[in-house]
Amino acid sequence: MDSAVEPGAVEALRATVTGEVLVPGDDGYDARADIFAHTGHPAVIVRAESDEDVARGIAFAVEHDLEISTRSGGHSNAGFSTNVGGLVLDLSPLDTVEVLNESERLVRLGAGALWTNVAKALAPYGLAFTSGDTTSVGVGGLLVGGGVGWMARKYGLALDSLVSATVVTADGRVLTVSTEENLDLFWAIRGGGGNFGVVTSFTVIAQPVKQVFFGQIAFAPDETAAVLRGWAAYMDSAPEELTSTAMCWPTFGGEAPPLAIMVCYAGDDDAAAGLAIDPIRKLGTVVDDQVRLMDYGDVLADANELPPGWRPRVRNRLAPAVTEDMVTTILTQQAKLANLYVEIRSIGGALGLVAEDATAFAHRSTQALIMGVLLGSPEDNEPLLPTYEEFWSALAPSLSGAYSGFLSDILPVDIDAVYPHQTYRRLAELKRQYDPANIFHLNVNVVPAGTE
Ligand SMILES: Cc1cc2nc3c(=O)[nH]c(=O)nc-3n(C[C@H](O)[C@H](O)[C@H](O)COP(=O)(O)OP(=O)(O)OC[C@H]3O[C@@H](n4cnc5c(N)ncnc54)[C@H](O)[C@@H]3O)c2cc1C
Repeated sequence: MDSAVEPGAVEALRATVTGEVLVPGDDGYDARADIFAHTGHPAVIVRAESDEDVARGIAFAVEHDLEISTRSGGHSNAGFSTNVGGLVLDLSPLDTVEVLNESERLVRLGAGALWTNVAKALAPYGLAFTSGDTTSVGVGGLLVGGGVGWMARKYGLALDSLVSATVVTADGRVLTVSTEENLDLFWAIRGGGGNFGVVTSFTVIAQPVKQVFFGQIAFAPDETAAVLRGWAAYMDSAPEELTSTAMCWPTFGGEAPPLAIMVCYAGDDDAAAGLAIDPIRKLGTVVDDQVRLMDYGDVLADANELPPGWRPRVRNRLAPAVTEDMVTTILTQQAKLANLYVEIRSIGGALGLVAEDATAFAHRSTQALIMGVLLGSPEDNEPLLPTYEEFWSALAPSLSGAYSGFLSDILPVDIDAVYPHQTYRRLAELKRQYDPANIFHLNVNVVPAGTE
């Protein structure tokens, strides 16, 4: 779709919206048209400052038959938060972080806030929030998808700490969703992504964490297989305060780099952190150990700037366990792709305390998230796709489910992996109720029941 909108119609929209309305050529348009790793050229960008702005933007898009992108932090791996010729609802002006009740750790987050700003705002209260690993990822997209952060094993997914939210629906209603109001929609937005409307704010319970032990432990490259196997076995029984990620960097045809194991111990008790982390140090020859006590906010890292033209191909799957055989398969398959980055996030822990049907993120017996990222441009990656598919096929028997956040090119098989059948059916019924015309389809899309 590449439709321009009549200037008169844009002026009329401007007259009813408090926030900026940008069209190509306007100052500030270019900065808001692109997102991380994707370029866009929307016909209209509404920089929403209120629920009403969002509702007016939605109504305008429907009236002018414009595709809608919802943008919070603009880190959609699939590029959903911008488009060509459509309308972008840019929530970045809705970026407040308010501590509503310090003793109850109740915090309201504007959907357009970035996680780095959340961390900075909470730190003076001795609070933190398990979000993701990156400063510039937004509250909105991460919280409606899941949120696999550095304290996941202790505090679960980010969305597990959600108490209520405000949602603007396809027909412009502004609904509060919680365990007391609009319970069905509250269930759906916790994992159902942007399918059900635009969430403008989230009320969450933050975690009583100020500092954590965090950093990388790197091992000699020739020990990668043995260390990975030992790490996976250890993480099965490690204390839940410890969340850990194994990073297998690609070689780009060069020497194998050392294996990096990242650790985050959610607490400042030196002795307890040592007890939790030392078994990892003992797995092999440590060539670098950067673990130290730091403020939680410093744990979040800036997204790596990508070389021009790169659009990483990102896929993930969840696993109920990381077995020795899987480690062998992962490394054997990775060796066939010189630009494949593999990350294994040990999750489990508190994720499993939530019932499978309690949220639209259903994969509660997951112990690990395995991500495979082909680094390069689409042209670089195209000829490698059969080998990339082979990577996933070889692992398939050991995998179950996927996380919507780490997908760049969404195939039917990915949607099936994100939503188990029962979850999808329930979501599709709610989609029929809340977005029957599927105007919110730039997401891991759930098709309204009865329209498939
Ligand atoms: C560099 C990088 C690092 C990442 N690290 C992590 C990580 O550590 N842990 C993790 O769990 N995920 C991580 N992710 C994935 C990330 O959580 C998702 O891509 C998420 O959607 C990004 O949120 P955003 O607000 O920045 O996205 P946007 O690009 O703004 O939005 C993405 C999509 O989410 C939906 N959406 C966004 N805002 C709203 C809203 N307010 N209401 C309703 N729907 C909305 C829409 O469908 C939208 O298209 C990472 C992604 C990148 C690119």
